[in-house]
Amino acid sequence: MNKIIKQNERGALIIISGPSGSGKGTIVEELVKRNKNIWLSISCTSRTIRHNETPNKSYYFITQEEFLQKLDKGEFLEYNQYNGNYYGTPKVNIEEKLQAGIDVILEIDVNGARQVKAKLPETICVFVLPPSIEELKKRLIGRGTETRETLLGRFKAAYQEINEITTYNYVVVNDTIEEAVKKVESIISSEKSRVDRIEEVYLANTEEKLHELLMEQEFNKEDIKL
Ligand code: ADP
Ligand code: 5GP
Repeated sequence: MNKIIKQNERGALIIISGPSGSGKGTIVEELVKRNKNIWLSISCTSRTIRHNETPNKSYYFITQEEFLQKLDKGEFLEYNQYNGNYYGTPKVNIEEKLQAGIDVILEIDVNGARQVKAKLPETICVFVLPPSIEELKKRLIGRGTETRETLLGRFKAAYQEINEITTYNYVVVNDTIEEAVKKVESIISSEKSRVDRIEEVYLANTEEKLHELLMEQEFNKEDIKL
């Protein structure tokens, strides 16, 4: 088979951000369940574990001291402090996955997204919004994971984060999970079809092959007006 183009097969690096309670975690969990080619990076955090979380799956839960040691050793691609806790993306594995053609998702905040984009400009940044502020409050309270204190901190952070929305490439309003997941899937698939992913166009081969096909007997000259 004579191929016409060679595309870059590298996996896409996708950041998912959005205010706490907008549904990022739920969307990402569903995305990973449905797509074998998507790998979710697990972050390190110094925050305490929630009742619905699993260690080494939701996060690597470590102490602040351990976090700072890793930071010193340059083990993070990016990191940030959010609502009084440290969060960071381990560097290890990411490049390897991308090279193997696997799409990598980072569920990180706006500050972390800025750091990653500066290092890897091809990163696709997706911002998840709840359908309304009232719904955000309902979801965050309904999750049952926050104290009054942390809830207020998360609302404050939400306001600052939404302010940065225009630095993102895509926005997904999380009305229903089904629709939101489909939208993120279609963003990833569109990005894979970008013309700037073409590495080579085999024009010489194409011309030669077209000529050869024209000359083949099964082509009736009457059918093609040259
Ligand atoms: P985030 O990761 O952005 O903090 P979560 O994924 O934890 O948000 O979602 C917050 C709460 O809202 C969870 O209880 C989740 O089940 C719920 N939720 C997420 N998406 C939707 C949706 N589309 N409709 C209704 N509830 C949702
Ligand atoms: P949560 O405590 O709700 O799990 O996360 C709080 C915020 O930290 C969310 O906005 C989440 O996306 C972000 N976050 C999670 N992991 C990381 C990370 O590794 N780096 C950065 N910068 N933010 C993260």
